[in-house]
Amino acid sequence: MAYGKEIYKIAFGILNNRRIKEDEAAEERRSAFHLMYPRAREIERQLASTAIAAAKAVLNGSDTVTELNRLKVENLSLQRELDQLLQSAGLDRNYLQPHYQCKKCGDTGYIDGRMCSCLKELLRKTAYQRLNEMTPLALCSFDSFSLDYYPEAPQKEGEISPQKQMENILRYCRNYARDFSLESSSLIMQGGTGLGKTHLSLSIANSAVQKGFGVIYVSSQNMATSLERERFGRGEQDEDTNALLLGCDLLIMDDLGTEFATSFIDAAIYNIVNTRLMAGRPTIISTNLSFYELQKRYSERFVSRIIGSYVRLTFLGKDVRQQKRMKNN
Ligand SMILES: [Zn+2]
Repeated sequence: MAYGKEIYKIAFGILNNRRIKEDEAAEERRSAFHLMYPRAREIERQLASTAIAAAKAVLNGSDTVTELNRLKVENLSLQRELDQLLQSAGLDRNYLQPHYQCKKCGDTGYIDGRMCSCLKELLRKTAYQRLNEMTPLALCSFDSFSLDYYPEAPQKEGEISPQKQMENILRYCRNYARDFSLESSSLIMQGGTGLGKTHLSLSIANSAVQKGFGVIYVSSQNMATSLERERFGRGEQDEDTNALLLGCDLLIMDDLGTEFATSFIDAAIYNIVNTRLMAGRPTIISTNLSFYELQKRYSERFVSRIIGSYVRLTFLGKDVRQQKRMKNN
């Protein structure tokens, strides 16, 4: 997975801060402990000098084994004494060591020259965050979704009322978010402007992020712009938006159909939808377009892929944003 330079810079910055903070905290614990137990300072000094003596013994070569054994015994007894001091103070034996977040690499990001899983994870999260920057993910929740704006009466005789329909959709989305996993189905949210598609998909995104999933939320316009920019090499160096879109745990594509139509973008969107379906990674698409309009705009194979594999949620009602505006005026 290729990330832009900026992503690496941010991730290394985070790792460095973690490490420095832990080193400083360990140093503070050590100073405080030495103040209370001056003997601890002496022991640590002696431990350091046995390490130097051992290195010298190896270099000198004369009767190395006897000397090393003597140093080893000395070292162990010093270590034991230090442990006893810590124990008598009611402290853990690792108390003086830095408590790094990643025990495997000590928050350096590398083990024997190979990238540690914690650094990979950090790069991934940082890249998603950068893509999500435009979206106020944290601002949306199911609790702030009100059914009051949806008419109680059906639009046509014998049909389900918008309010009932939206109550069902809200319940479905809540359960979807609660049980979200890589096995979850993909969703297509259809309906007019201002019916809450963005609100509900952001609420799902929010809850998946909190569960630790890698979520990307993009408007189809921003997505198209990024893909076009990288296609012509004007993107950040080595940035690979397409790979991020293909590989994230949950991709939410907002307002499909509002992006500028080109055959390159149409093909890229089909590829994203298709690849994610085959890889078993859930996608949520929201759109104002009907299946008929999607078919005209993209292609028949695109629409049949979605009809065949996505769960369809049809939003009903009157533009909620407009109602809120009118209420406020
Ligand atoms: Zn690590």
